[in-house]
Amino acid sequence: MFQWTDEQEMVRTAVRQFIDKEIRPRIEEFEHGDTPPYDVLRKLFRDFGMDVAARDRFAKQIAFEKEVAAAVEAGETPPEKPKRDSEGDGGSSSLTLIPIIELCRVCPGMVTAMGVSMGLTSAAILSKGTIAQKERWAPELLTLEKVGAWAITEPNSGSDAFGSMKSTARRDGDEYVLNGSKTFITNGPYADTIVFICKLDEGNPPEERKILSFVLDSGMPGLEQSKPLRKMGMHSSPTGELFLTDVRVGIDRLVGETEDVAAGGREGAKATFMQERSGVAAMSLGIIEECLDISVQYAKDRVQFGQPIGEFQLIQDKLARMEVARLNVENLVFRTVEMSAAGRSMTLAEASAMKLYSARAATEVALEAVQILGGNGYMSEFRVEQLARDAKVLQIYAGTDEIQITHIAKDLLRR
Ligand SMILES: Cc1cc2nc3c(=O)[nH]c(=O)nc-3n(C[C@H](O)[C@H](O)[C@H](O)COP(=O)(O)OP(=O)(O)OC[C@H]3O[C@@H](n4cnc5c(N)ncnc54)[C@H](O)[C@@H]3O)c2cc1C
Repeated sequence: MFQWTDEQEMVRTAVRQFIDKEIRPRIEEFEHGDTPPYDVLRKLFRDFGMDVAARDRFAKQIAFEKEVAAAVEAGETPPEKPKRDSEGDGGSSSLTLIPIIELCRVCPGMVTAMGVSMGLTSAAILSKGTIAQKERWAPELLTLEKVGAWAITEPNSGSDAFGSMKSTARRDGDEYVLNGSKTFITNGPYADTIVFICKLDEGNPPEERKILSFVLDSGMPGLEQSKPLRKMGMHSSPTGELFLTDVRVGIDRLVGETEDVAAGGREGAKATFMQERSGVAAMSLGIIEECLDISVQYAKDRVQFGQPIGEFQLIQDKLARMEVARLNVENLVFRTVEMSAAGRSMTLAEASAMKLYSARAATEVALEAVQILGGNGYMSEFRVEQLARDAKVLQIYAGTDEIQITHIAKDLLRR
């Protein structure tokens, strides 16, 4: 795959039309006001039938899992997993990526909010939950009827997410008692469903404790969700803190309903990091495309010293570098589509390399766009300042640049 197909281009045009009508005119409200992004995203889902498609995919997956469970119980050979996405062009994955790219041209924060809810939170339940847990929480997360949050980061544990984690679960009869605080949690202020990651405290040393995930509902006694935190960018994505004081839960809220988790529970959370990483390339592409379009137009229109600034070689160098970044990141996105079509997943080094490169490219391109536009670039009206602020967090969340580098090296060196 080296370019989008005609069908994919049609989807892109339709999504652009939606964004031009429903989001661009209200950008002030989303970026500088207090309007959360969820209603407009739900409308996007409804208008494009993405909610119905998500429900259908979920129903098929659950029907298959039930068949497997029944076969195992009857001592029969379980059915084979149906082939995914056999269209050869990565059909459904591209139809997910195109809205991400297009939304990121305008409001990358919306993609963060959407991705954490439908992606990370539901994936955490779908990958390790029981069938009953999936049916209880996943459908409404996948359609964004409910807002989800995935909470691992704490005030003293970020990159060293497991090592310094203080949040705990203690057994108490048939229940668990959860305590701890989480910070920088996307959708934290508005989440209906929260995946809370903590350590099982059995009186053993913290480094030996199992990692468990619990699903919480907003409003449970002892659970407090903060107001949105003020931050540098991604204003259309509400970020907050969570405080848990003696929150009591039954085993039905423990993901997988077992403490017997592979690799002490760390693997499930790591799989979620991988998923986050591959989404960042598509986000970066949207930011880069928008910044490049705005910069090229400005370089043609803006006249200084009697000529359009695009005639100056120093400006041409910036435009050329932006185009190189655009092509590289687009190729990484195409690779994701192809791999999904082939049913292949990335290695840790590949996912981390893709995230590292794309996040850096988006930040550099957006800052260069500000430079090309000069004083106007620094003004909100010209939009690149927002994209530069938004792009920066791509180098921080889902694992910082420095952590991506260590993961790439570790993965390469252990081969
Ligand atoms: C807008 C936003 C949304 C977020 N959403 C979520 C969310 O939904 N859920 C969630 O759980 N978390 C979320 N996070 C948290 C995010 O994942 C963390 O901020 C990130 O992992 C970094 O952790 P930290 O901020 O504690 O930085 P630290 O880990 O304290 O890092 C500080 C600096 O030290 C560097 N450093 C750390 N360790 C090493 C090392 N071994 N080698 C070299 N350098 C190192 C880092 O790269 C960084 O430059 C979000 C953060 C932001 C900003």
